[in-house]
Amino acid sequence: MSGSSETVARSVAERFEQLYGAAPDGVWAAPGRVNLIGEHTDYNDGFVMPFALPHTAVAAVARRDDGVLRLHSADVEGPVVELRTDALAPGSDKRWTAYPAGVLWALREAGHAVTGADIHLASTVPAGAGLSSSAALEVVVALALNDLFGLGLRGWQLARLCQRAENVYVGAPVGIMDQTASACCEAGHALFLDTRDLSQRQIPFDLAAEGMRLLVVDTRVKHSHSEGEYGKRRAGCEKGAALLGVDALRDVRYEELDAALRRLGDEEEVRRLVRHVVTEDERVERVVALLESGDTRAIGPVLVEGHASLRDDFRISCPELDLVVDTALGAGALGARMTGGGFGGSAIVLAEETDVPAITKAVEEAFAAAGFKAPRVFEAVPGAGARRLR
Ligand code: ADP
Ligand code: MG
Repeated sequence: MSGSSETVARSVAERFEQLYGAAPDGVWAAPGRVNLIGEHTDYNDGFVMPFALPHTAVAAVARRDDGVLRLHSADVEGPVVELRTDALAPGSDKRWTAYPAGVLWALREAGHAVTGADIHLASTVPAGAGLSSSAALEVVVALALNDLFGLGLRGWQLARLCQRAENVYVGAPVGIMDQTASACCEAGHALFLDTRDLSQRQIPFDLAAEGMRLLVVDTRVKHSHSEGEYGKRRAGCEKGAALLGVDALRDVRYEELDAALRRLGDEEEVRRLVRHVVTEDERVERVVALLESGDTRAIGPVLVEGHASLRDDFRISCPELDLVVDTALGAGALGARMTGGGFGGSAIVLAEETDVPAITKAVEEAFAAAGFKAPRVFEAVPGAGARRLR
């Protein structure tokens, strides 16, 4: 899938018509995201700062009123999957269809009379690369149903329902960042989001105007223990909050971090997790202040600090991600860090426009020399959030 959004919308609509024998009621798009800074803070009620990718999930959808949900993806082999809305049950579906079906389930659970749909979708968000293909899928379906059933829900409300779909229906304990980013981001901006109450501010983030670029380096590895490790980090953060007597680590103020760490005594692992989360929230606030004061290049070192914290304190990096960061910095990047859940997925690199070819080449050569799979490198321009295309 490539080309202008109008071309993409038309081709997804045409395929819908071939599959279901009638034109869709409309076509919607929702993007994947990268997180500029604020990693593993979203389940600690903290701050994040994602921006939307130009890569999107696009869905052609028609409303149904007979309790039938039909699903098809251009990116998955196989026929149309037909489900009954009143038989949707959390944990019952281990296929990709759990994501869109989970959204319909969450809407119905919340009391919205969503009575069925025909859906065909196609996505340019690479799956499993830490760029949130799953949230793009959920949000595009949620937005389409919101429009077709006249639910009048706002972006952040759709994000909450999509998170519930993924947590409960799919069974993945994800935070709220990905869905909110996909639903609420704006082109040319990063989204400064407080994950406690979902209050948000659009921060201008137009690197090209300042002669810079942001590269995404997809390592194309996902180490298999990543889900278990994510759960352990979450549990460790909750333990830290309990030991410190706060609702969430967000409530530990940066100025009080040293005192808090002393109170944790010999809980060495918990201390490291707490230190990452509290310093990461402070880094998000620092990046916001730098961007708002026009000092964009100065965010580079903050990104590098963030990577070190994820590598040494949170311990979720891996050799491939560290190699991207070290190589990019060695080749002149302004900043670099892993992004997303960790143990693979993608890293981001902030660079002067003129240094991009040398950095790209250096990373590709370093991966070849290390015997790693060739990485996928692309430039990320902050794109629009979820929207109706036609
Ligand atoms: P990420 O969100 O980081 O890309 P996840 O593991 O959370 O990775 O979500 C990936 C899953 O989302 C895939 O395994 C698949 O089930 C589903 N998915 C993503 N894109 C598509 C698509 N285009 N068609 C069908 N399912 C998709
Ligand atoms: Mg995901």
